Amino acid sequence: MLNELSILRPDDWHVHLREGALLPITVPASARYFNRCVVMPNLQQPLTTAKQIANYAKEIRQHIPQGSKFQPLLTMYLTDTSEVAELEEALKLDDFFGVKCYPCGVTTNSKAGVRDLNNCNAILEKMQQAGVPLLVHGESSETKDDVFDREKIFINDSLVKVRQQFPELKITLEHISSKEAAAYVRDSGPHMAATITPQHLWFNRNDLLGDNLKPHLYCKPILKREEDRQALCSLVKEGFPRVFLGSDSAPHRRQDKENSCGCAGVFSAPYLLEIITQIFDELGALDKLNDFVAVNGANFYGYPLTSDKITLKRQAIEIPDNVGQQHNEQLVPLGGGTSINWSVDE
Ligand SMILES: [Zn+2]
Repeated sequence: MLNELSILRPDDWHVHLREGALLPITVPASARYFNRCVVMPNLQQPLTTAKQIANYAKEIRQHIPQGSKFQPLLTMYLTDTSEVAELEEALKLDDFFGVKCYPCGVTTNSKAGVRDLNNCNAILEKMQQAGVPLLVHGESSETKDDVFDREKIFINDSLVKVRQQFPELKITLEHISSKEAAAYVRDSGPHMAATITPQHLWFNRNDLLGDNLKPHLYCKPILKREEDRQALCSLVKEGFPRVFLGSDSAPHRRQDKENSCGCAGVFSAPYLLEIITQIFDELGALDKLNDFVAVNGANFYGYPLTSDKITLKRQAIEIPDNVGQQHNEQLVPLGGGTSINWSVDE
């Protein structure tokens, strides 16, 4: 049995650091072990301009602990009216990374999102030419569509067309959750990748609502059947090179999760590395962990690999039920109130 494991310092290719009073909690949580994080732009006022992105980056950087080499990578929020000139401005910023597409209304702060991707052809053309990746929340925004089918509907109705129209555009299907998405990414060639969250590898919809309703496992895309979870696990276990960690860590305050109209999002950042190691251990895939968290994403996006290493130890830790108390907040992390077999050797 493997009791110690050394990996490259990991990257998280999809995280929500939120804003305001949450930044002093979210930024240090991601900076603790992570090298780079792709920071999503769905703030209350979505980040649609280079100026807004630059201001947000400045705020984030104020909360990076001293001595940390943590690098937040920045994104722009795509709308039906996004202009090429604005993207060109954003490309001048340090650490600008890519463009995020939220179909209108699919998740937190997505009301300004895209109604029809055909309106975005000029900017997609520019992105393809400049090598800027399109990061997609891949769910249909039609409220009539069954919540468990929205991912596959989006792939068939929208993504397939974009893929055909822009064959060289780098596209990441974010937080894939279904066997259809797993198959699509597997079959779509070198410019198509996917991020996977810890919760979609760890749990299925029975865990979410089979016995009692677990609001802290509620996220978009919603957890699906066991066969869907298995399809994601298969990609990971075989070491498929175009899938990588994007935690989609997305905190909401406890009262907004434990609520008659609860918010979607799992706050996974605080114990993300320990939990993902535990999941890979349970899958018998510890030998694939390093590539999943530190290599595949960098290779897909053309970023250098880090030389920094981090050591994981088989040593149990208790995950607290609230990680916000120092800041008078109530934030329940993924795995809160349970124990994990792995810890980081600091
Ligand atoms: Zn997200």
